[in-house]
Amino acid sequence: MRIAIIGAGFSGLAVAWNLLNLKNQVVVFDPFSGGASFVAAGLLHPYVGEEAQRSLFATEAMQKTEDLLHVAKRSLKKELYREGIIRIAQNEKQRKAYKNHCVVFKDVVDLGNDHFLIKSGKTVFCKRYLQGMRLAIIEKGGQFIAEKITELEQLKTFDQIVVAAGASIRDFSEFVQLKLSFIKGQVLTCEIPLNLQIERSLVGKGYIATSHKCGIYHVGATYERHDLTETVNLLNTQKVLFTKAASFYPDIWQLKPIDCSSAIRVMRQGHYLPIATKVSNKVWVITAMGSRGLLYHAYFGEKLAQAIIGNNNSFFSRTNVLLKIDRL
Ligand SMILES: Cc1cc2nc3c(=O)[nH]c(=O)nc-3n(C[C@H](O)[C@H](O)[C@H](O)COP(=O)(O)OP(=O)(O)OC[C@H]3O[C@@H](n4cnc5c(N)ncnc54)[C@H](O)[C@@H]3O)c2cc1C
Repeated sequence: MRIAIIGAGFSGLAVAWNLLNLKNQVVVFDPFSGGASFVAAGLLHPYVGEEAQRSLFATEAMQKTEDLLHVAKRSLKKELYREGIIRIAQNEKQRKAYKNHCVVFKDVVDLGNDHFLIKSGKTVFCKRYLQGMRLAIIEKGGQFIAEKITELEQLKTFDQIVVAAGASIRDFSEFVQLKLSFIKGQVLTCEIPLNLQIERSLVGKGYIATSHKCGIYHVGATYERHDLTETVNLLNTQKVLFTKAASFYPDIWQLKPIDCSSAIRVMRQGHYLPIATKVSNKVWVITAMGSRGLLYHAYFGEKLAQAIIGNNNSFFSRTNVLLKIDRL
């Protein structure tokens, strides 16, 4: 089949790679103006969220993301992530949850003083990962067109259409029935003085994430529900994020912000799992990765590709029944 994909963020690239593996022709449309994947801090681990509980499908999802990291690394030939994340428990509930993970899942080690090492956690260098996936897709015969799609009608000559447009899904009337909410996030890029550098990303109230550049870290991220523009405000963001981070990293005020980026997260109302499903005759959607894009894009991208090829949406219907979520 000839399949068009709108969006070259984590979701669109994962679907594209899997469709190519299933022997289809794939064209990805994206003006590359940037979506959430281009600003993500790169934290990948199974215990996302306040509750610190292990996310649904975490084992399979972590494995699928690792597989794609290897695909991207093979093409780009550069390091794409750093192993291990330190999570600092913020309250009794989180402390109990992490102590339990140490025993049950064994990928968490109690370092004492409320610090837990998530051994399976990684800090992914997102821009490199996206670049590596693009290269891999081109090497496999996929095509990229730097064009913004405004109407699905423009793609009518394709056999199937996948919409992976992140927050721009709001621009397409076909998806108004999806129960989505939108949350803006701003993240700071900061320099850390040599004597304060940390080896692994720290996650507490907010986070300080390592990057591929020595001495450069990402401090994140805001959750803003009222302003859904992508404008940035470095000084205000610094105040908000540094105040939070001071609770687990008192030296935070010695960091020097050098940049601030923003994007809009798409969330599913009522649950953190993404949405990937058939919408109409030949239109499919993958969205609502929330703050778990790195955890879920590869797993749900593969499931969606299989559903398109088999014209069988049953995995997603089963998932909705399991979660008692209404039909979309
Ligand atoms: C500040 C911040 C920090 C984050 N940090 C993390 C993190 O550490 N770990 C994590 O797992 N997640 C993180 N997230 C969440 C993560 O970024 C998202 O879950 C993920 O990027 C969503 O990927 P996506 O491909 O669905 O959407 P997007 O990345 O938004 O991609 C959509 C793509 O579609 C393109 N597009 C849009 N409209 C059109 C159109 N009309 N025609 C053609 N192309 C179009 C856009 O240019 C874009 O490239 C963070 C989010 C934010 C905002």
